[in-house]
Amino acid sequence: MSQTAVPTTDATLLIDGTWRSAGNVFDVVDPATLEVIGQAADAGPEEALEAIAAADRAFRTWRTSAAEDRAGHLRAAAVRIRERQDELADLLSRENGKPLAEARGEVLASARMLDWAAEEGRRANGRVTPPSANGPGLVLKVPVGPVLAIAPWNFPASMLVRKLGLALAAGAVIIAKPAEQTPLIATALVRILQETGLPAGVLQQITTSRPAETVGALLADRRLRKISFTGSTEVGLGLVRATGTHLRRISLEMGGHSPAIVFADADLEAAATGVAAAKFANAGQSCTAINRLYVHRDVHDEFLALLLDKAAALTVGRGTAPGTTIGPLIDEAGLAKVEAHVQDAVSRGAKAVVGGHRCTPDDPLLQGAFFEPTVLTGVDDSMLISSEETFGPVLPVYVFDTDDEAIEQANSTEYGLAAYVYAAALSRVWQAIDGLDFGIIGMNEPAPVRPELPFGGMKNSGQDREGGSEGIEAYLETKSVAIRL
Ligand code: ADP
Repeated sequence: MSQTAVPTTDATLLIDGTWRSAGNVFDVVDPATLEVIGQAADAGPEEALEAIAAADRAFRTWRTSAAEDRAGHLRAAAVRIRERQDELADLLSRENGKPLAEARGEVLASARMLDWAAEEGRRANGRVTPPSANGPGLVLKVPVGPVLAIAPWNFPASMLVRKLGLALAAGAVIIAKPAEQTPLIATALVRILQETGLPAGVLQQITTSRPAETVGALLADRRLRKISFTGSTEVGLGLVRATGTHLRRISLEMGGHSPAIVFADADLEAAATGVAAAKFANAGQSCTAINRLYVHRDVHDEFLALLLDKAAALTVGRGTAPGTTIGPLIDEAGLAKVEAHVQDAVSRGAKAVVGGHRCTPDDPLLQGAFFEPTVLTGVDDSMLISSEETFGPVLPVYVFDTDDEAIEQANSTEYGLAAYVYAAALSRVWQAIDGLDFGIIGMNEPAPVRPELPFGGMKNSGQDREGGSEGIEAYLETKSVAIRL
């Protein structure tokens, strides 16, 4: 069994129980230093079709395996992930750029998600309906079949593992398709799961630098029964359009444009700490990151001063360096979007009260796309940042006068993933929870993602939920049986 989390080979394809490479490989780059830290196999349609054939075969037996045994694999993998948290966090930090403490948090969250999936798999019960004139009925929950899990680079461990755990717990089989920026942490985690003794074909992995072409081959294959996608709204909607003649289940977790509201009665110190965390974690590259901050006029100045202190205390650097609290953006394209949003806002009258520029840390090794933690005031709805997801460490601050106005503005977006509320009075808290059109609400809580809570969005942020009791449903089909006695 491999003891090193950093895959030392480019054998990143797991097909039908065997790890192997492909004819071509692609480089994996540390986004802080721009050093090549590994290579991954560049699979194409041929490998994808091999995988779906193996998945189809494996499903025939895995679907009838004991739920208790399936849970055992997941629990064993969770134990292994916790044992190896140091090396996994180090790899995740190097590959994605996030600070080590955040990387460790994500690795441990992955283990908790596997524990949750193990428990949920044993409760995927159907039901018996009362007898009609002819007899009773059964509602069976059956595994959906071969699943494709398309994962993002921003949470390349936890987003992938959540899909794998719930699918395997449900009795489905699954092909992991990590993002091209982060195949190494995915490989380390898939190896851990595979080494619990999963039968060949139950869990597979395809790494590729050509996702459209490689995934395209699977979309055209009717044996693929389900897609679970996390990524941009553009690609997610493209997958829906590409359904073609093979209708299949698809869960989507896509972009966000999360508002946070600081009401007049909020605990301002706690709110400033929470807002800074929910904005600047992962350098703002979270689909649940705050993208718009609404502050009541009465507390605006006091709150802003507290917030600026938090932003000023952030240390930009390489994720693995001690003391770093904000790492690089994933690449130059990500940085270009952030710069465009800031320049557009400033050209229309906004002011960067802190930050606002590309950041060049005083270290020749730090060549990546770093951006200063930034707070903008004087923003209005005409600016790009007010309607588009920035995916970077920039926080625009808006002022409001009435609670109704704040909720209305928060809802004025095509997205509906996460919203954050800071308030004290119960009636105000309830009004916000009830009024906000978002799938996830952080109520005085900057980190609203928990295994036991369903995760997912409304509107153009997605469909279906991952995690919670709803999570396993995404990997189950419903079969009704009418019995005539
Ligand atoms: P981002 O723009 O943040 O990189 P993407 O939506 O492009 O987000 O990527 C999320 C995931 O979707 C990645 O695993 C990526 O490889 C995959 N992906 C990108 N384009 C396609 C496509 N045309 N078909 C299927 N998967 C894709």
